[in-house]
Amino acid sequence: MQAESHRSEVRLTGIASSAGVARGPAYVLFRGMALVPCLENQDPEAEIRRLDAAISAARADVIKVRDEVAARLNDAEAQIFDAQLLVLEDVALLDDVMGRVRSSRRNIEYCFKESAQHYVGLFESMESEITRGRAADIRDVTGRVLDHLLGARPANGALSGGGRVLVARDLTPSDTVHAESAGIVGFVTEEGGRTSHSAIMARALGIPSVVGVTGLMAAVADADLVLVDGEDGLVIVNPSPQTLESYRARELVIRTRRDRIMSEVGLEDVTLDGVRFELRANIGGPSDMEDVRSFHVRGVGLYRTENLYLTIDDWPSEEQLYREYSEVIRQAGGSPVTFRTLDLGGDKRLGVLEPEDNPFMGFRAVRLCLAHPEVFRPQLRAIIRAAQHGPVSIMFPMISGVEEMLAAKAAYREAEAGLASEGVRPAHRVRLGAMIEIPSAVAVAERLARECDFFSVGTNDLVQYLLAVDRGNRKVASLYDPCHPAVVQSLRAIFSAAGGAGIPASVCGELGGDPEWAPLLLALGAVELSMSPSAIPDVRFLLRHCQRPELDALAQRVLASPDAARTRAVLRDFVNTKLGPR
Ligand code: PEP
Ligand code: MG
Repeated sequence: MQAESHRSEVRLTGIASSAGVARGPAYVLFRGMALVPCLENQDPEAEIRRLDAAISAARADVIKVRDEVAARLNDAEAQIFDAQLLVLEDVALLDDVMGRVRSSRRNIEYCFKESAQHYVGLFESMESEITRGRAADIRDVTGRVLDHLLGARPANGALSGGGRVLVARDLTPSDTVHAESAGIVGFVTEEGGRTSHSAIMARALGIPSVVGVTGLMAAVADADLVLVDGEDGLVIVNPSPQTLESYRARELVIRTRRDRIMSEVGLEDVTLDGVRFELRANIGGPSDMEDVRSFHVRGVGLYRTENLYLTIDDWPSEEQLYREYSEVIRQAGGSPVTFRTLDLGGDKRLGVLEPEDNPFMGFRAVRLCLAHPEVFRPQLRAIIRAAQHGPVSIMFPMISGVEEMLAAKAAYREAEAGLASEGVRPAHRVRLGAMIEIPSAVAVAERLARECDFFSVGTNDLVQYLLAVDRGNRKVASLYDPCHPAVVQSLRAIFSAAGGAGIPASVCGELGGDPEWAPLLLALGAVELSMSPSAIPDVRFLLRHCQRPELDALAQRVLASPDAARTRAVLRDFVNTKLGPR
């Protein structure tokens, strides 16, 4: 008798980006787009008619792009799109899809995705580079067809993601949001780093995730069992029965620790020896306010306002902004809300903006807003109008020096004066602050502090720009090291400049919600830490179990540490003594 077949276990390592352990069948995301619904008992002929319509629409898209490219570049580039048009007529692919629809009676999106994925895999595994290049064409053009299918009938049925682990080359923040509603239990991506926006979203959702996993897409097929260890940055494909057994014990330890931590989630933010600290939430919009309440967070320290622009992929009207902002302030129930003005650019791109060769250094954030008052003014007006309903602070992203801060403040004052002449005034004075995330701002922090009501340190970008390491590139992820002495010294300089000017400094980058970093940041002089609501329980528990003298001793040890490795060890030891080994 033949033994039961079990595909062999494969272990892949990546970057632990959201804690916890999850397991489930893989859901391999094709092209990094919204999840595809799986609906049963459909009428195959009606589904095939929908496919015909989507293919016609995709063909029209490709022809349009081809003609534009031919006009701007030349015919050789345009021929790439002729190859894509041939994919849309490929008999083998279309027969395969129709066969799947008729035999399974599932919806066309689902069957089309399965076939397309099969063909991409086939071409990717071939020897010849030209044939492998064809896989990219198939991926691109079939993605277009899927976009039309999904657009034509939004995913209103049961999504097929429930209980599954999402596996993708990379995820956009909106993919991540869709995944939540689909009941995804874990994320794994081949690209990305701990502070890329999809990783931040995964942490916000409290879903275990590992990013930057080399070889992932080649190792996982749809429906493979995948175990995601978001504590150690490990992904195990088709785990053996022994591995599953050992993980059951590990999951129990993690759950017990979690219960202990959650037992203090509703308690005060005060250290063992009575020193108060402030914990606030990083949010992307009103839908995050439920988490803010459930994790007992008192106020918003970073409202990433660009999310609305990215979701609609356009410029929202002042009214639309006002409605959304008022809703957040209403839900904050009198706690302060810190708005970060529009931070587009880098990996947060709007379709209407021109592509750039180096977007992380490009026309972005406050630079874009100052150059486009027609974009900045409606946002500032909407925030000031919403500030009639509760306490508000505003901070400007990517401030590089004093002049930029003065220009941003002038734009604010102009909007404020305009509204005052209409009889609209904020309920409380609006505090204006700078995000400190560009090294030049650190260098002039003392002068800058005199122009600000507060600083908020964006460590995600600060580390990236200080060390010249792309925060989303897995190839340099090991160099993205907040323990680098340059980062520690910069943080000290920022907090000391803020203290000298008598203004508060907070940290809203991911280090603020990292249990290894939170004690050090307080010790170095931060008065507020802002983080994903799901990070609050660990940080609150940890800080509540600290005393001020031991925090000061921690800062002294780190400042005296000769290198990043020693700093890492000091931080880890400290947290392990408080929370137990992780
Ligand atoms: C940061 O850079 O640390 C930050 C909070 O902003 P974002 O991650 O949105 O760039
Ligand atoms: Mg930033």
